Amino acid sequence: MYHDLPNSASFWSFLLTVDEDLAGQTRKKGCPCGGRLHSANYLRKPRGTPAQLPELQRLRLSFCCDREGCRKRATPPSVRFLGRTVYLAAIVILISAMRQGPTPRRVRELSQRFGADDSTIARWQIFWREHLPQTPFWKVARADLVTLGEIKSLPYSLVDAFLRRHPPCQGWTLLLGFLSPITVPGGLQIKFSP
Ligand SMILES: [Zn+2]
Repeated sequence: MYHDLPNSASFWSFLLTVDEDLAGQTRKKGCPCGGRLHSANYLRKPRGTPAQLPELQRLRLSFCCDREGCRKRATPPSVRFLGRTVYLAAIVILISAMRQGPTPRRVRELSQRFGADDSTIARWQIFWREHLPQTPFWKVARADLVTLGEIKSLPYSLVDAFLRRHPPCQGWTLLLGFLSPITVPGGLQIKFSP
């Protein structure tokens, strides 16, 4: 059913504006030490992006405390980057979901296009099946999802829940926004390597 990501440039620019909003909220809170947060973005090199993403869209927005002796990094949630994986969050979700969906035949084609090999995809499956359900995030999020339908298999049921009732761009944005709390490094004690 959900074979592909929206590939319009406007979708990817829109995700960036969502990340900028999330970053703005983080900045406003400041550092726990009372220091102010300064921009300290870093450039990521996501693999297999759907289109050649402009540099601005490959930036992981991040901050650094300005107080001497603290200098702690604060990285806001993101709708584009998931943990430390070198793949864009949407690609991780799509390929993992396709493997569980009703039309698994397209997985090979997709994973080739985005350059994800079988062992990478296997690690993603473990993340969805074993790690995510144990996070504090998921324990709360599950309750919110009851209204969207039964969550049988992750992440397929999530993709289905969000894309069944919205046009692709909107559905993807809502789904990525929903998952954004788990994108903060260490924030939910998830180990998620590429
Ligand atoms: Zn600080």
